[in-house]
This record gives sequence, C-alpha cells and structure tokens, in this order.
Amino acid sequence: MAKQQDLMAKSGKHRKLREKSGQAADMAFEEPLHVGRPAVVNRERFLHRVNEILDSQWFTNDGPMVREFEEKVAEYLGVRNCVATCNGTVALELAYRAVGLAAEVIVPSFTFVATVHALSWQGITPVFCDIDPATHNIDPVEVERLITEKTTGIVGVHLWGRPCAIDALLEIASHHGLQLVFDAAHAFGCSWNGTRIGNFGRCEVLSFHATKFLHSFEGGAITTNDDELAQRLRLMRNFGFSGYDNVIYPGINGKMTEICAAMGLTNLECIDELVVLNRERYEAFQRELERTRGMRLQTYDDSQNPNYQYVVAEVNCEEYGMSRDRLVEKLHEEGVLARRYFFPGVHRMEPFLTSSGAPMCSLPVTDRIAGEVLALPTGAAVCSTDIKSICRAISSARDQG
Ligand SMILES: *Cc1c(COP(=O)(O)O)cnc(C)c1O
Repeated sequence: MAKQQDLMAKSGKHRKLREKSGQAADMAFEEPLHVGRPAVVNRERFLHRVNEILDSQWFTNDGPMVREFEEKVAEYLGVRNCVATCNGTVALELAYRAVGLAAEVIVPSFTFVATVHALSWQGITPVFCDIDPATHNIDPVEVERLITEKTTGIVGVHLWGRPCAIDALLEIASHHGLQLVFDAAHAFGCSWNGTRIGNFGRCEVLSFHATKFLHSFEGGAITTNDDELAQRLRLMRNFGFSGYDNVIYPGINGKMTEICAAMGLTNLECIDELVVLNRERYEAFQRELERTRGMRLQTYDDSQNPNYQYVVAEVNCEEYGMSRDRLVEKLHEEGVLARRYFFPGVHRMEPFLTSSGAPMCSLPVTDRIAGEVLALPTGAAVCSTDIKSICRAISSARDQG
C-alpha cells in the first residue's frame, strides 16, 4: 500500500522522464495507468481561492464559496436549485428521505453500491431491477413488473453518463403515483432531449468525488426544479435547523466545506475543455480497438452531450478468446489497471443476500454485463502513446492466451 502511494506520488515525474527519453512503453508501464485518476486543476486559481477562504475565516456553514458553487452548477445545468453536500452518498440519503421514499424502492443492481446503501440506511428495501443490455440502464419493462402495493419510488442511474429511458420512467412513475429520483453521479453535463441531466424526476443526485468528471475532492449535490423540495433539503442538510434552536426536520450534517467548493469552482471553469480531452481519448481507443474481435466499446449519442468520462468495453469471451477476468489479470501484470466495474452486481453483495447466502432475485442481464464490462484507463494522465500501448497489450494478451 505504501509502495503504491509512493508510486502514485512520483508518477508525474516518471512520466516526464519517460517522455523525454522517448522510451516506448512496449514493456510494462513504468507507473500503473489507473481508471479514475483525478483531473488536474488550475493550481493558481485554486490556491487564490484557498487564500480567500483563509482570510475570510469562513470555512463551512453555507459560506460564499459553496453558494457560488451552487449558483454556477445550477446555471451550467439550467436547473432552478442546486443543494451542495459533503458527498454523493449523503446527497442520495437526503434526496430519498426528502421525497418520502419508504417501504420498497425499485433500483438497478448494476450500479455503484452507494445507490443502494443509501436506501438501506433509511430502512428502505431495495427491489433490484434488471437492465437494458444496450444501455446498461434500468429497464422500464422490468420496472413495471416489480411494482407492488409497497412500492414508493424508482431510482434510475444514468450509468456511464448515458441518460436512462427518462420518458418511459416518468410515465410509469406518474401512472402508479411513484417518486422518481435519479442518481446522476456519472452524468454531469450530459443532456437528454436538449435539457441537461439534473432537471428530471423529483430531483437528481450528483457526486463530486475526486474520481468523478467534475470534482471537489469530496462532494455531491441534489438538483431540482422544485423550490419547496430544495428548501427542505437545505434544512435537512444542516441538522434540520430552521433558525436557532428550532429543528423541524430529521437532519444530518451533510454540508459541503468552503475548500471543497473552491476546488469544485476551479474545476467547473475548465469543464468544457475536459470534455474535449476525454472525447479525444475515447476516440483514440475506438480507432485502436476497431478491429479487435470480441471487444466492443460502449457508444455515446452526441446529441446527449456525453462527458466521455468512462471508456467502457464489453468483452465477449467467446469472440475475444479469453474471459474478461483473465484479461484484467494480464493487463494488471503489464501495469494497465483496467477495471471490472460494479462486479458482481449489488444483488450479489453480502449485505443484500438472503439468510442462506443466495441472491434475492435473478437478474440475467445484469449477471452477463457484470461479467463482460471492462473500464479502461483514461483522462488527462493517459496520453495517446499510452492508449496505443494499452490496446497493444489488449491484443497481445489474447495472442498469448
Ligand atoms: C460515486 C458514485 C456515488 C457516490 O458518490 P460519493 O460522492 O462517492 O459518495 C453514487 N452513485 C454512483 C453511481 C457513483 O458512481
């Protein structure tokens, strides 16, 4: 672990040395290439803001940086309200509670475990729903099948930044009188039918964790066009206080700090450049992997303003000639830290199994996709030479068997 951190700390230097010497990365990479390496930041802008915070001595509790961050995010997304929080998981818990989710809620299993943990922490039973194999998002036909008298809501996750089948879900929710909340942790800046994600359902939840497209070290937000809901969320985020000594909601400490808002604001200023950078990498992977049998890159619809944060492949074991898991092992040996994502599906994780240790339900599409998905290293730290080498490692892994 210490060694790993050491490597990461030095990696910038190593990379420069390698580039200078023009050394091809034919052999193992000198430093591992990670999925989800945080984006670089405009250091001067950030430090300027840090100095402002230190001078003002206003470090948290709805300070000027957080307010500015909330305003700028709301403006960018074209949504009426943005309520910033300490992280995305607490934002999910606040959202679920504020819209009144209870009893049973329908949620995909193919997501980051926090989407579901936030339900169980509210004493809500997650009812796992299968996904559409093409989009990896919750399948509306399956949603409808799972509705019971106990169902109070649906949580959709815009996986990889691809919008859910929003129209179908809106219709189901309104027809059955259910709350609809979206986990939009992957989808900052993406849009659906010309409107940015953040505007749909009762509310949507963002994460600004360091590995996310827009980051504030740690952070999150709830966005909504419902002013009354936003006001309730603001109070719940701050212990439920409505003025001194007057607690009117079951609250929590969900506040974002000023220093996190400073990071978020600084990153937001170059978010459009980051899309361009991500897209170049995505397209380079697409070119390199075009002729690799059994490797299919997930595609994005440009009309939806994808942020291209994730480069995700599906590995078809038979066509590729090797299982996804074996490929991941081989890539790790080469220093390419490509990752399985959301494996094995939340429905197969310990806290969600029955007392006999079996999954509560059968989700064939989730099981298949969870066994095939491969997230490739991308972002500012991965250059075009790296991409060529990664793709060469992918083809040679197969040749070596
Ligand atoms: C990252 C993530 C979260 C949790 O956000 P944190 O800010 O890390 O708490 C929730 N859902 C999804 C889909 C995520 O990717």
